[in-house]
Amino acid sequence: MRDLADDLHAHVRALFPIWRSITGPGLRETLRYIGEWLPLRIHEVPSGTPVLDWEVPPEWTVRGGTIRTLDGRTVIDTAEHNLHLLQYSVPIDRVVGREELDRHLHSLPDQPDLIPYRTSYYVRNWGFCVTERQRAAMQDAAYRVTIDATLAPGSLSYGECLLRGETEEEVLLSTHCCHPALANDNCAAIAVAIELARALADQPRRLTYRFLFAPGTIGAIAWLHGNRAVLPRIRHGLVLSCLGDPGPPSYKQSRRGTARIDRYAAQALREAGHADRVLPFVPYGYDERQYCSPGFDLPVGCLMRSPNGTFPEYHTSADDPDFVRPEALRDSLSMLQGIVGMIEQDGVWRSTSPYGEPQLGRRGLYGASGLDQMALLWVLNLADGRHSLLDIAERSGQGFAAIAAAAAAATRAGLLVAEPEPPA
Ligand code: ZN
Repeated sequence: MRDLADDLHAHVRALFPIWRSITGPGLRETLRYIGEWLPLRIHEVPSGTPVLDWEVPPEWTVRGGTIRTLDGRTVIDTAEHNLHLLQYSVPIDRVVGREELDRHLHSLPDQPDLIPYRTSYYVRNWGFCVTERQRAAMQDAAYRVTIDATLAPGSLSYGECLLRGETEEEVLLSTHCCHPALANDNCAAIAVAIELARALADQPRRLTYRFLFAPGTIGAIAWLHGNRAVLPRIRHGLVLSCLGDPGPPSYKQSRRGTARIDRYAAQALREAGHADRVLPFVPYGYDERQYCSPGFDLPVGCLMRSPNGTFPEYHTSADDPDFVRPEALRDSLSMLQGIVGMIEQDGVWRSTSPYGEPQLGRRGLYGASGLDQMALLWVLNLADGRHSLLDIAERSGQGFAAIAAAAAAATRAGLLVAEPEPPA
């Protein structure tokens, strides 16, 4: 029998070689792969469409690029690694002098064996990303540079999977799917989102779940532009990124910092022994920047393991499938499922016997196996119609699952009744 960790890693390996960008065939191929696992609706937004303060760029179709010596020896070839090309490079096919070429080369002097990831989406340019050693070895007076690519009117693609629940209130789970050969950023989060959606599709849901797979920045902006009517229904949201590296999990708060999603994520990290991994909001990072822009100010945080920019493999050729650990992917998925479990189960209860402690023995609750007595006492004390299960878990220091189990047992015994309204 296959293990879930292996399934997750298999997604990463399948997605890794696809040459993605913010538009184009590689992005569509990625969405097609995701659609093999989920009911995915693909949307196409035409180039030139104004979206919020931006405009959808022309579509980039890339076939390859090389740097060759004038006697025909290939020095750099995107067939070896698709990070070699500056993303969104314009086509070129001519002899270029060493000095001019140098202005179009990107390398990492401090990491001489790694290829950097660079883009030029909104400024027309061409370029190659190479290792520092490859760069140093290029000493000829001129080279033949060829980039076979097209920038032309087309469209921007994104995919959405909507899993309807009992209510129209939504949980938004958003992940960027535009990076080429980078495994942790962000094949890992795509893999985790696929398996979370598959698991959720098979279980009853109180809330509606919207999974969004969109190119970074412009995809989220295009989605926000076209979905204003959806926004008031979003009760909680998470941007998912970098979920497969060996570092411990972390959570970046929403702009509000006190949204319920901030508290659910903090509770999940606390229970996992990583209370110190809750990071404050900063207006830099992934698409939480768009969801948390002041006009929208949605309750959307970002779940990661090692935050972007904090690990040496970030945006380099070292962010490969070996850097992503199957067990880290599984741990990320299980943490997300824990957060979803809190969202689904949270509610407000009221004690039917608030005067003095109710007698538990008579109701079979005293020392009952599988029931945490402290969690039960906390629930019976704080279930006053004002405290949610999350409030009780936070105040008591107990795990959310123990609090929820105690509330369920006390409800079955007639000691609690659920309030009709979910926690605000
Ligand atoms: Zn990135």
